[in-house]
Amino acid sequence: MSAEADREAGGAEDASGPVTTLATPIALDFEFTPGVAQSRFLRGLARGKFLGQRCPTCGKVYVPSRGSCPTDGVPTTEDVELGNSGTVTTYCVVNVPFAGQSIEIPYICAQILLDGSNLSFMGLIQEIPTDQIRMGMRVEAVWVEPDELSPSLASVKYFRPNGEPDAEYETYKEYL
Ligand SMILES: [Zn+2]
Repeated sequence: MSAEADREAGGAEDASGPVTTLATPIALDFEFTPGVAQSRFLRGLARGKFLGQRCPTCGKVYVPSRGSCPTDGVPTTEDVELGNSGTVTTYCVVNVPFAGQSIEIPYICAQILLDGSNLSFMGLIQEIPTDQIRMGMRVEAVWVEPDELSPSLASVKYFRPNGEPDAEYETYKEYL
């Protein structure tokens, strides 16, 4: 529709009023270059493993690692393979539909601190009613089938409760 036709379709009485909403198709194409450290993490995902790196100065383990410690400013060179379990530090129950949503609402997004890691990351929680999620819940990763693994977080289908007792608040309070 031309701008002139659009104005006519909108009606003369509203032409001078404020524009409050605008619906327009927008798309962005971009490429992400992960670099050496994050490539290692992504290749680990393609093998069904969480790979991190430890800081030689403070000993913290970052998953994923960006190749250096943000506290000490030194390269992280020691690779660390982490297990499949972790703790929910915080969470959000998503109840709001939005364009492009691929998961049926309501669903749970949580920050998950893998055992042995000092950095949490966001993951989907499933196999539990949304009103039962809680801070400190122990969870485990559920991976896609071996032939579907790829260098992407899509290799992790979701996390689910692993049946262990909740973690004590003291063990994860620094990661909120
Ligand atoms: Zn450090």
